[in-house]
This record gives sequence, C-alpha cells and structure tokens, in this order.
Amino acid sequence: MAEVVLFRNRDLPGYTGSLADYERQEGYAALRLMFKQYPPAELIELVKRANLRGRGGAGFPTGMKWSFLPKERTVTYLCCNADESEPGTFKDRELMTVDPHQMIEGIVIASYAIGAHAAYIYMRGEFASEAVIVARAVQEAYKAGYLGKNILGSGFDLELTLHRGAGAYICGEETALLESIEGKRGLPRSKPPFPATHGLYGKPTVINNVETLASLPHILRRGAEWYASIGSPPKSPGTRIFSVSGHVKRPGNYEVPMGITFRQLIFDLAGGMKSDRPLKAFIPGGASASFFTPDHLDVKMDFDEVAKAGSMLGSGGVTVMDDSVCMVWAAANLLRFFHHESCGKCTPCREGSNWLLRVLRRIEHGQGRLTDLDLLPQVCGNIAGRTVCAFGDAETAPVVSTLRHFRAEYEAHITRKECVMGHARPPVDAATAHPISFAGH
Ligand code: SF4
Repeated sequence: MAEVVLFRNRDLPGYTGSLADYERQEGYAALRLMFKQYPPAELIELVKRANLRGRGGAGFPTGMKWSFLPKERTVTYLCCNADESEPGTFKDRELMTVDPHQMIEGIVIASYAIGAHAAYIYMRGEFASEAVIVARAVQEAYKAGYLGKNILGSGFDLELTLHRGAGAYICGEETALLESIEGKRGLPRSKPPFPATHGLYGKPTVINNVETLASLPHILRRGAEWYASIGSPPKSPGTRIFSVSGHVKRPGNYEVPMGITFRQLIFDLAGGMKSDRPLKAFIPGGASASFFTPDHLDVKMDFDEVAKAGSMLGSGGVTVMDDSVCMVWAAANLLRFFHHESCGKCTPCREGSNWLLRVLRRIEHGQGRLTDLDLLPQVCGNIAGRTVCAFGDAETAPVVSTLRHFRAEYEAHITRKECVMGHARPPVDAATAHPISFAGH
C-alpha cells in the first residue's frame, strides 16, 4: 500500500483536526526545525530539489515560482488559493476541514521562505462551514504562537487573514483573486506584469494552492530527497490527491503517488463503474481538461504523460461517465457553466462561450445542422489563445475533445435526432438557445 502523506491523519480514530490533535502527530515540528536549521534561501533550494509542482492546476515548480520574486523588495505577500471551484474537484475542501493546521503550517513555511509578513487565505465563498473551521484553526495558531509576532521566538512575524470570496469561479485565477482581495471586482489582469513583481497592492506576491502549501511541512521534516523519490520522479514526484466523482462505486478523494494509471484510480481505488455499465469517457483533471476515453485508462497520472496524451492533470478532479451519458449533453452542460462564469472582460470568451452554448444546445435538441460540426471548432479556434486568461482555452476543451472522440454522436443528433440518453428533448428557442419549456427562466 502506497504511503499516504497529506491525509495521514484523516483516518486516525478520533482525530478532529484541532491544534492539540495536530501537535500530537508531529504538527508544527517542521516549523521548529525550519527556524533552527533553514535560512530562507536554503529553504527555497530545498523545495526546488524536492521538485514540488503546484497542485492548483498549472503544475508550475513551486521553488522556481518563489525565485521569481525580485531580489530587492520591501513588502512581499503570500496568498493561499483556497478558491477551489473547478467542477469535480473537492480535495482542498477536505484538506482544509480534516487538517487545517497542516495548511497553516505550510503557509508559515512559505511566508518565511519568501519573506512575507502578511498572508491571506482566499477561500471560496460557498465554503461556509469550512470557513468556520479554518477561522477557528487560525485563532488557535495565533494563541499558540505559531502566527503573529516573533513566532516561536524566531523573530519572524506573520499576520494571516482569512478572506472569503463571493462565489465567482474566476476568482480562482490568481490575478482575479488578487483583485478580489483588494476589494475590486474579480477580473483577471493582463500579464505581464506577473504577480511575482506586481501582485497584491502592486507588491511582489506568491500565490500557492492549498495542497501545495500542505505538502511543505512534510518536505521539511523528511527531506527533499525523500519527496523527490516518491511518485513519478524526476518530473512529477510526490503524492497527489485526486477527487473522483461520477459513475463510480466509491467516489471521493484519493491520495496516491503520482504516476499510477487512471485504470488503477478508477477501477481499483474508486471501485469501478457503478451499476457495472461500461466506461464511456472521463475528464482527467477538472472541467477545463479535455475528455479522455477508455483508450486512455493506462495513461500514467503525471503532469507530462497526461499532457502527451492530449489533456492535462489540472486540478485533480476526475469525473467518470458511463455509456448512459450523451456527450453532446455533457459538452453543453459544461459550456452552460463556463458561459455563466465568464467574467466578460474579453470578447472572445464572453461572446464565444455564448455562441458555443447556443450551437451545442441546438444540436442537443435536434435542431442542429451538419455545418455546425465545422462551426464549433472554428469558434473554438477564435477563443483559445486569444483571451486575457486561461479560461478561454478551458471552455473550448470539452467541445474540441468530445467532437474528436464522439463525432458520431453529434451526427446522430443532427441527422437522426437520436440521443443515447433516450429522452425527448424540447425544441430550443432560436434566439436564446434555451429549451422552449425553460424560456424566460
Ligand atoms: Fe474573463 Fe474569460 Fe477573458 Fe478570462 S478569458 S478574462 S474569464 S472574459
């Protein structure tokens, strides 16, 4: 059985995630070790040697991200991105609720490494009970001297603020997150300049994901070489938490060494297909990732192998679909989400998501035309790579990939008005592409 690192306390009998429980499991030992043995520059080198890659989506090497901060700086900020909003992804939520101090310890370590004396946890607005748990843990940490002035007598100060979002998906994009903390509307910024030089309040800033930060105490305590040797070294070391949802027997969060296959995750750990219907498709890394088919089950779950196979590991959300799911419906459903969440700042995304949704809906509802199958990739081509943030690329992924793998299903909708989901689809309104029965809602 592979070693569990981040969830090692989750299944301990009676473990509550309180400070006392965390300390009993060597909690905050890494912090003491850090103040005793590691000047910030050495800590950055340690994280570089471990080759910890960001767990939020892009997989960027964490130590390298920290190194991009300008040498000469007066104020530096750290932001913990806890705005987990990617459909099918719920790992940070469990990490924060089961073991909030693990994340807080990681925040102090990262802040010390980059010289930040103010840090923020930007938490998804819908996480109401999670916010209560994290706020309580922050208070406990202040009281015990793990936060605030002169932490553990080290001379290092850190103020940590929990900031809750208001429910916009786009605030998980790092520059929209910064705008939101500043009290503005959460719109992504044009880059460059990047947050490393012009971040929160225009100052050098690092934004790291919850799971990335939660990994730091373990790397400190057990060493870079240990971390770099597990998982799929050298490029994708460590463990990773994957959220498995959809038509599986045991949905949930699974922490596994990077590099296992999707087959092992879906069939061995998540129990295989619910109702024993055949697997038809799965999304390997959150809603922004291109669909995979059963042909991809033996792809190794590491950053590069998944990219080579045509998708991305993204946020770690694996959504499994059996053969009862219509792929045109699935793409339209995701586009409904993307269209709703587009912040509207740039035209290709704002207008393009609307066009994609309208075309998909009319195909889904039996009113499509064969030329739509050329129109869809053409619209996608005018969105991907032409927007302020990566959301533009994300919204095209479900369309392009379902068309690539399931073109026959699109054709059946258009030419024979057939759908594998079997039920009759109401016609859609030509102007809005809303089903007529829902018009006005
Ligand atoms: Fe906003 Fe979409 Fe443009 Fe991103 S790509 S800035 S979400 S309109």
